[in-house]
Amino acid sequence: MDLTSGIVARPSRLADGRELIYYDDADTSLPPERSIDARTLDPRPPTATMRQDVLTGEWVSIAAARQNRAFLPPAELDPLAPQTPTNPSEVPSDYDVAVFENRSPSFGPRIGTEFSLEDLDRIGLGRSLPSIGRCEVVCFSPEHEGSFGSQTESRARTVIEAWADRTAALSALPGIQQVFPFENRGEAIGVTLLHPHGQIYAYPYVTPRTQRLVESIEKFAGSNPGQSLFESILESERASDRVVLSGKHWTAFVPFAARWPVEVHMLPHRHVPDFAATNDEERDELASLYLTLLRGIDKLYDTPTPYIAAWHQAPVNVARDDIRLMLQVTSPRRAESKLKYLAGSEAAMGAWIGDVLPEATAAFIREGISTL
Ligand SMILES: [Zn+2]
Repeated sequence: MDLTSGIVARPSRLADGRELIYYDDADTSLPPERSIDARTLDPRPPTATMRQDVLTGEWVSIAAARQNRAFLPPAELDPLAPQTPTNPSEVPSDYDVAVFENRSPSFGPRIGTEFSLEDLDRIGLGRSLPSIGRCEVVCFSPEHEGSFGSQTESRARTVIEAWADRTAALSALPGIQQVFPFENRGEAIGVTLLHPHGQIYAYPYVTPRTQRLVESIEKFAGSNPGQSLFESILESERASDRVVLSGKHWTAFVPFAARWPVEVHMLPHRHVPDFAATNDEERDELASLYLTLLRGIDKLYDTPTPYIAAWHQAPVNVARDDIRLMLQVTSPRRAESKLKYLAGSEAAMGAWIGDVLPEATAAFIREGISTL
C-alpha cells in the first residue's frame, strides 16, 4: 500500500494472528517480499479487565500478563531485532520500520462498542469492564543501538508516516476513543527493551489528562469567547523567551508552567487534531525539527537524556475542533547524575513543584541545540 512521500506499508500477520505492518523508507534497499512467521506461539492472553477507581472515576487496566514480558533481554535474543535462526523474535524479516500488536498488551486484543462514554463516566463501587483497545510496538530501526534521535531524516519521516497511518486505522476500530503514540527512552524511565522503539496505545476511553484539557478549553472559551486555547498558547509562547526551535509549520517551546526539569512542547501552526490530519509539508518539516530537538536534548549532559516523548492527539469523538496535536517531551533529569522523582506531593496529590525556571530550561536547551 503506497502512502505519501514514497513510503510503502506492507501489512502481514504473525503466527498467533497479531497484525504486523512493515513501513519501507522512501529510499529503502529492502526487497518487497517478507518471510512468513514460522514460529509456534502460545495463544494470545485474554483481554485484561479494567476497574474504576471510585475516588477519581478513572479506569485502571489490570493486565497481569504483562508481568512476564521480556526485561532487558541480551541483544542476541532481542524480540525487536529481525528474526534469525537463533533469535525467534517478533519481526520475521529485515525491516526499516515495523509496527506490530504487543504480545502482552495493557489493552485488547478485544475491540468493540459494548460500553459508551456515558457508561464510563458513571461512578460506582466495584465497577469493572473489559480493557477494550489495542497496544502496538513501533520499531524505529532493525539496529539494536540508538533511539529516535539517532535515526536518519528519511527514517524519521517513515516513522511519522506510520504514526499517521496507525492513528487513522486505530481510530476507525470499534470502541477506540483515543490514540496515543509515545516513546519511553532510557532505563531511568523504566524501559524494558533498549532497542529503539516506541508504542501506540488505543484507549477505550478519553484519558484523564485529556478530560482535564477539555475542561480547560471550556473554561477558557467561557472567559475568552471566540478564541481558541491552542491558538492563544501558540501566540503567547511564540512571543516569549521560551521558544527553543521553530519552522514554517511547527514551534517548540518550554511551556510557561513546565512541571519537569526538562519539558518541551511542540505545536503545529495549523489546527490539526492528530497525525492523520497533517499534510506532507508538515510531516517533512517535523522529521527534521523533531530530530534536531531530540539531538539537542541529548547534548544537555555527557550521557543521553532519558525522556518520555508523548504525542497528545484529539480523542476520536470529542473536541476535535479544539484539541490540537501536541508533542510533550519530558525528562526527570535535573543534573548530570540527579533525577527528579515524583514524591508525595506530585505522585499522591498531583500537586507539582517545578525545580527549574522554564526560561532557564529554554536557554539550556537552545544552547544544547546550538552545539549540534
Ligand atoms: Zn535490538
